[in-house]
Amino acid sequence: MPKLFILSAPSGTGKTTIAAKVLESLSGIRRVITATTRQPRPGEVNGRDYIFLSEEEFKGMMEKGEFLEYACVYGNYYGTPKSQVEENAKNGVDSLLVIDVQGAFEVKRQMPDAISVFLLPPSLEELERRIANRGFVDDNVKERLRIAKKEIPCAKKFDYVIINDFIDKAVECLKAVVLASRCSSERLEESQRALDSEVVSLIKGGECYVKET
Ligand code: ADP
Ligand code: 5GP
Repeated sequence: MPKLFILSAPSGTGKTTIAAKVLESLSGIRRVITATTRQPRPGEVNGRDYIFLSEEEFKGMMEKGEFLEYACVYGNYYGTPKSQVEENAKNGVDSLLVIDVQGAFEVKRQMPDAISVFLLPPSLEELERRIANRGFVDDNVKERLRIAKKEIPCAKKFDYVIINDFIDKAVECLKAVVLASRCSSERLEESQRALDSEVVSLIKGGECYVKET
């Protein structure tokens, strides 16, 4: 079965930046586009960055149970559409969720096999600089830093922690997590296309000669 990866971090750490670069250079993985009631920022494209919905449309989807998880973050609703995760799984493609910390815990609760990754800023000063430099009018820097201090201790509950000090290094670390999961013995079935038929039949029908004690 394809895997679900959750990338989470305090706002401004660099989730969107790192996820975009990983998706550019890895095949077989797609980002699940979040639905939100927040207004688009300059340059954001509906359906690419977010699915922008009215509050009425969002609540309609909520009531129909169409979200894997949803949360109110900084006064706006954000939700992960179940349909995209299901579609990716059907097509044999891994899914990448880029979501806040509470959403990450909710997805992990429902799907314990999901692989959770926490991205850490190298320092609070650098995080403040990144939020401020981003320059979005709706970014309340002090509030985001206050929440970040509550979110950072959650890092230890994630499967992997990556420090985003240098973009290229963080991208390589996240790619390594995805690639390593593809070599998991649990995913041997998916590797069969790349294997010679004799090896496939040994894996399927053969018995390991080492007897476990
Ligand atoms: P998030 O999605 O976590 O809210 P973004 O990806 O929007 O964060 O990044 C916030 C800002 O920090 C952006 O301006 C981005 O270019 C910058 N940034 C991301 N990673 C780094 C890094 N390793 N070093 C310096 N700046 C970074
Ligand atoms: P922004 O509006 O700055 O793009 O995102 C604000 C916050 O919402 C970020 O912390 C981001 O991780 C979070 N977020 C984005 N998509 C989702 C989602 O699908 N679910 C949840 N729970 N949070 C999300």
